[in-house]
Amino acid sequence: MMKDNKIIGRIHSLESCGTVDGPGIRFVVFMQGCVLRCRYCHNPDTWEINKGKEYTPQELMAEIRKYKSYMKFSGGGVTFTGGEPLVQADFVAEVSKMCKEEGISVAIDTSGFIWNSAVQRALDYTDIILLDIKNFDPMVYKEVAGVPLDPTLRLMDYLREKDINTWIRYVLVPNLTDNLESIEELSKYLAEYSNVSKIELLGFHKMGEYKWEELGLEYTLSDTKEPAKEMLIQVKEIFDRSGKNVSLNS
Ligand code: SF4
Repeated sequence: MMKDNKIIGRIHSLESCGTVDGPGIRFVVFMQGCVLRCRYCHNPDTWEINKGKEYTPQELMAEIRKYKSYMKFSGGGVTFTGGEPLVQADFVAEVSKMCKEEGISVAIDTSGFIWNSAVQRALDYTDIILLDIKNFDPMVYKEVAGVPLDPTLRLMDYLREKDINTWIRYVLVPNLTDNLESIEELSKYLAEYSNVSKIELLGFHKMGEYKWEELGLEYTLSDTKEPAKEMLIQVKEIFDRSGKNVSLNS
């Protein structure tokens, strides 16, 4: 967003040594703002765009630089997540450009829902996209995230066209995203995307439930259990058939 003709970002929090959002040790930037409403969201406190702390691109770069040697040594970099970081794509593009100028690798963890010229610019400086595909059945996707699936699939085509390294994330939620036929279809679809280098299968956890309560929001998955190990293995086997590298984090 712009303030006094300058780009500023609204940031929920920073994590200096992240290890789960892309390769190596990562400086993780949790951006404010999201237009999706995923029923299992761990970070509903990032949804509101006007919260968090304001940073200029230069201020954030000063924080990132402190950890440059850790990132380089471990093959890591910076990851923008949230929230949906591309809600603030102009800020992400600016900081990513500065990272590239300093040889720092950039990853963006996104739902793929937002598309505009600032998003396109941010992608020009991105080394890895961590793309959440919440379900491959459009009806279920809408039920999970509250928005349509199509924009994410359009982004997939753009990422392939530009040959941008993409990791797919899939969260397995019992009785919600465990529709095996659609997982089979997703696996076949991903096999066609040469730029997809990894699929991360994640088991559902209720980690963010207390935040929903604190915010006075209704958490609809209170009675949902974590997926059984056998179920996760069965789904992993389906994704394995895509020929991609599949990791399982239960
Ligand atoms: S896209 Fe991410 S931050 Fe937004 S609602 Fe879904 S899980 Fe939460």
